[in-house]
Amino acid sequence: MKIAKVEAELLKLPLPRPMQSGSSSGKKGGPVTDIYMGMTRITTESGIMGIGYGWTLLGGARAIKSFIEHDYAPLLIGENALDNERLWTKLNRRLQTVGRAGAAMEAQAAVDMALWDIKGKAANLPLYKLLGGTRECAPVYGSDGGWLYMSVKEMLAVFDEYMNQNMMGVKFKIGHADPKVDIARVRQVRKALGDDVWIAVDANQKWDYPTALWVGRELEQLGVAWFEEPLWCDDIPGHARLARDLDIPIAMGETLASRYEFNAYIREDAADILQPDICRVGGITEMLKIVTLGQVAGKPIAPHHMMESTIHVACGVMESGPIEYMPWVSAAFSEDVIIRDGLMYPPQKPGLGLEISDDTIAKYRI
Ligand code: MG
Repeated sequence: MKIAKVEAELLKLPLPRPMQSGSSSGKKGGPVTDIYMGMTRITTESGIMGIGYGWTLLGGARAIKSFIEHDYAPLLIGENALDNERLWTKLNRRLQTVGRAGAAMEAQAAVDMALWDIKGKAANLPLYKLLGGTRECAPVYGSDGGWLYMSVKEMLAVFDEYMNQNMMGVKFKIGHADPKVDIARVRQVRKALGDDVWIAVDANQKWDYPTALWVGRELEQLGVAWFEEPLWCDDIPGHARLARDLDIPIAMGETLASRYEFNAYIREDAADILQPDICRVGGITEMLKIVTLGQVAGKPIAPHHMMESTIHVACGVMESGPIEYMPWVSAAFSEDVIIRDGLMYPPQKPGLGLEISDDTIAKYRI
């Protein structure tokens, strides 16, 4: 299963709906309208091709492609594509001084995902079955519809679509300059959706401890399921203090880059729910370790974004935990994700079961 070819591409995809969070906005403070997908196609001598990708919203896109093309490809040619564990370590050690997080890990995720895709195709198994086949589907919550620039009325129109598909509930952004605005919005959404609907909110690292404490206590009164990223992601003691002081679960992890960073949060009991992002942690190989860490610690896992690939991990090795419906890179793939009655099902084709056509690459390539 020798690797014969490693190709890199960079796609610029329009977001299905512009996004704006407490920490992410466009150049002039408005919504962000595009997402960048750094992707690879890895082909073996026997002709099996695997695809994988990383993503960024706010910069570093060319660096992701460059890491794949100039740094990882020469390390991969001639290697056995089935040795994902050994190759993950080889790539990670080689680039560690310039990228144990960020663009290098996004590129590493693309490579790692492609190697798992090849492994699944070689075994003629959908990846979630190869990983363990823990379950056939995962509950979905709607997440692309609660951006800061949207009015409550606009948000509710999107949430209606999600609830009509029987999704478990919705998550939306908080993080206005005045947190009282956020609480008023949460109250309106709660009133409109009723007491039984699952609602979570996400502050994207916006606040300091006193503000987050006040917001958290207000959210507790409104039956919010989790309070996501209240503080800056490096502030482990702050999150630990907040987790102790609040009853509402603290969700955290989308900006963490490795098992070591997750373990630091777990050891300090600084998060109640862990949210690894398959691309930011360098792919499936590392995400599996993070899932195990969370399971041992008794921390529920709610993966962040990238549902098309993450569904395989979620159904392969996780007995529970939701999938976040966020169709940010869906335009790249030839087929839509499968959601029936509020549950997402992994594709049944071998490997990831994802295809990015040559026409799509030509259309979005930069
Ligand atoms: Mg988030």
